[in-house]
Amino acid sequence: MANNSFVKALFAGSIEQDFIFPYPKMDKEEEENLKLILDTVRQFAKDNIDPEEIDRNEEIPKEVLRGLAEIGVFGMSIPEEYGGSGFSTTAYNRVFEEIGGIDGSLAVTLGGHQSIGLKALLLYGSEAQKKKYLPKLATGEWIAAFALTEPGAGSDAAGIQSLAVKDAQNGHYILNGNKIWITNGGIADFFTVFVKTPVGENGEKKISAMAVTRDMEGFSSGKEERKLGIHGSSTTELIFDNIKVPVENLIGPEGKGFKVAMEVLNSGRLGLAAACAGGIKTLIRMSVNHATNRKQFNTPIAEFEMIQGKISKMVVDVFVLESMVYLTTGLIDRGDIDYSIESSICKVYASEAVWNAVNEAMQIAGGIGYSKEYPYERALRDARINLIFEGTNEVLRAFIGLAGMQEHGEYLKKVGKALQNPLNEMGILTDYALHRIKKRVATERLTDVHEALKDEVGKFEEYAKELHRATEKVLSKYRKNIIHQEFILNRLADMTIDLYAMIAVISRVDSLLKEKGQKKAQKQLTICKTFCEEAWRRIRRNARQVDNNIDPWRKEISTDACEANGYQFDLIG
Ligand SMILES: Cc1cc2nc3c(=O)[nH]c(=O)nc-3n(C[C@H](O)[C@H](O)[C@H](O)COP(=O)(O)OP(=O)(O)OC[C@H]3O[C@@H](n4cnc5c(N)ncnc54)[C@H](O)[C@@H]3O)c2cc1C
Repeated sequence: MANNSFVKALFAGSIEQDFIFPYPKMDKEEEENLKLILDTVRQFAKDNIDPEEIDRNEEIPKEVLRGLAEIGVFGMSIPEEYGGSGFSTTAYNRVFEEIGGIDGSLAVTLGGHQSIGLKALLLYGSEAQKKKYLPKLATGEWIAAFALTEPGAGSDAAGIQSLAVKDAQNGHYILNGNKIWITNGGIADFFTVFVKTPVGENGEKKISAMAVTRDMEGFSSGKEERKLGIHGSSTTELIFDNIKVPVENLIGPEGKGFKVAMEVLNSGRLGLAAACAGGIKTLIRMSVNHATNRKQFNTPIAEFEMIQGKISKMVVDVFVLESMVYLTTGLIDRGDIDYSIESSICKVYASEAVWNAVNEAMQIAGGIGYSKEYPYERALRDARINLIFEGTNEVLRAFIGLAGMQEHGEYLKKVGKALQNPLNEMGILTDYALHRIKKRVATERLTDVHEALKDEVGKFEEYAKELHRATEKVLSKYRKNIIHQEFILNRLADMTIDLYAMIAVISRVDSLLKEKGQKKAQKQLTICKTFCEEAWRRIRRNARQVDNNIDPWRKEISTDACEANGYQFDLIG
């Protein structure tokens, strides 16, 4: 394989089908174990978790967290030698999906702990750090948090100001600064904190990651934020006042913290996507239940085509989402993979799919959907955050478009720095990408896919070429300025999301068709065809609009509104 990201290769005009086919399959033993754990989690939730109470009291009861810790949920991704269960990425995310289907606050709390809070230790921690912290984190004795965001640095995470200055003689850093919006801020004991540290002879300030614990002198957390939803999750400010952080608490190399943060977030985004899939499944259950029981005009509302449109979209969306998430986790479990774009795609798709699902579920419920007596409004409040955190969907779309344009392999070494931060360093990337992309022609075809998927495969191949062509065109036209062409980047990202979704669902259904035969896989085939039919039309529209669009008008209208300080066309002058 020339590239270790399917999507990056796709941008460069190459369909690396070895990544995608056959659809990853769990080994039997792990699958059996997973079923047992899922049953245990479901039973525990049924007996102990009341999402309405969590929302009302703005807290997850201690017993719930303790109970989940006892059944091993806090240490799923931690290797057995450090007291965890050593799950594969697929198994971890599948359990996480289940949690997302139970309660949003719980998913955010556990995600803050495991998908991002302790992940840097797993990826970059020294043996001593792992031995010191992971056993406590695996049992839930300690909860972890991930602290990147600051008042002046949200989407632009590279702009953080918290400063840790090394006092080499005394073997510690002196850390000052603050973080905001930190999930688990009020309940965690262990914090992966991203700071600036002066590095090298000229003392250039670079980002480093370090382990900070609540018991360190000078550490404090602020009051709980009052939020729209996920009320049971803790979100606070963190304040660092001359904290002495031992030098051995540095996680990964000094000055390489941005890479650490981005890799942790890649994993976090997949967990978030899996949790959204769980949420959509719960919403489908609620909607179907209501739609089949509620009669209007002497007819169950489930028989009205407009309601069927809503339910079918939720089902198709979650099937596609599962296909993408578990294709990606399967690739991660296989190893040696760059999944930064793929996980961003999953996050964007998942958060928008759950937001659509919650909106439609509320609509199907009618008046009761709007009532506090029913779970729809809580679900709506809880779901909204997914579009904002772990990289807003706007920033991730820009990332998908820009990172997709960079080639891997040799180029990775050559422009290592730029690759870390493609949003800021696009200039270095574009000249090379342009050169490379021009040399390649998208000639690869998918081979050996089941005959029943012939049309879908044809469309995928056709529109994969469109993405390649569009990339070439915009790089030639804008060169380094592409970074500022967000209307275009948005379209490239949407084309990419649809293409990855198409290939994931094609691969999954191809495996089902081959394994079970067409008769038994017919329903999944229909879902696949339904999605692909809509997806290629969207891709075609986006591709056409790369050249032919009304972007300048939109820009002008927005600029006018900003200059006029609001809307200026009121009917009554
Ligand atoms: C409940 C909650 C929990 C959180 N948990 C954590 C946590 O555990 N750890 C942590 O470190 N952080 C956490 N965050 C912070 C979260 O990740 C940030 O809020 C998020 O990254 C956005 O940053 P911001 O709020 O500063 O918004 P801004 O970056 O100011 O963005 C405002 C708007 O501008 C858009 N925008 C910004 N840049 C661009 C661009 N280049 N192109 C187009 N649009 C752009 C954004 O998409 C957004 O719509 C949490 C936030 C919340 C609300």
